[in-house]
Amino acid sequence: MRINRALRLGIGVTALAVAAATTAGCGGSSNKSALDHAKDGKLTIGIKFDQPGLGLRNKDGSYSGFDVEIAKLVAGKLGVKPEGITFKESPSPQRETLIENGQVDYIVATYSISDSRKQKVDFAGPYYVAGQSLLVRKDNTSINGPEDLKGKKVCSVKGSTPAQNIEKNFPDTQLQAPDTYSLCLEGLKAGSYDAITTDDIILAGYAAQSAGSYKVVGKPFTTENYGIGLKKGDKEFRNKVNDAIEAIIADGSWKKAFDDTVGVSGYQAPTPPKVDRY
Ligand code: GLU
Repeated sequence: MRINRALRLGIGVTALAVAAATTAGCGGSSNKSALDHAKDGKLTIGIKFDQPGLGLRNKDGSYSGFDVEIAKLVAGKLGVKPEGITFKESPSPQRETLIENGQVDYIVATYSISDSRKQKVDFAGPYYVAGQSLLVRKDNTSINGPEDLKGKKVCSVKGSTPAQNIEKNFPDTQLQAPDTYSLCLEGLKAGSYDAITTDDIILAGYAAQSAGSYKVVGKPFTTENYGIGLKKGDKEFRNKVNDAIEAIIADGSWKKAFDDTVGVSGYQAPTPPKVDRY
């Protein structure tokens, strides 16, 4: 009896010790706040990997784009050097979950601030204002704006605000919604889709990369305020990130980041928006 009890206790203690060690080993970082991580000189930042000009993982494993530069500039203001940053791919449908689970400290990934997203995460910014637009093959003459989408096969990404807008306001459109824009591009190329819809600045990146195969048509028909997504309720961190955004706009590094990335294909840098400290 006594031996059995001791054994059970022993096993219990071992199991607890293992559990504690596991928490410290892998999940430990989730107990620390984003600011703690910044103080340690290390940040994990969510970006896109397949959006040229914005967030792109290059063949050599490096990262480039406006969002990547913004991510680094903000990290710099928080005292973290580029070597201290780990970039993590954050596809549109996974962004809230990655933040909620503490897998990223913040996300800079063409991430529109929206009321429904604000139920789960908070946003610093905005740091840029985009608008939903359309990308078609260069020989397409039938689609010139959202009014032409009736009966057309249109691709956007699951969970994105442009996909939500099509579902809600353009019900006669056949929306296809995979997880990434690269899958939309493959389908546009293959002829399975008539158009891709998402933010103008993202589509401009794909058009620029396509050597004339695709064109952006029509005027932007929504307003997409790009924010930096972070943990809901971490007001101290949000304030620091907002301070950082204001500082990089004021010191000219925001403009330089834009001109060196999106701007290379001729896109003009707009006047940056005002940070919203809601
Ligand atoms: N800005 C839009 C959004 O956050 C579209 C771009 C994207 O999917 O990242 O949903």
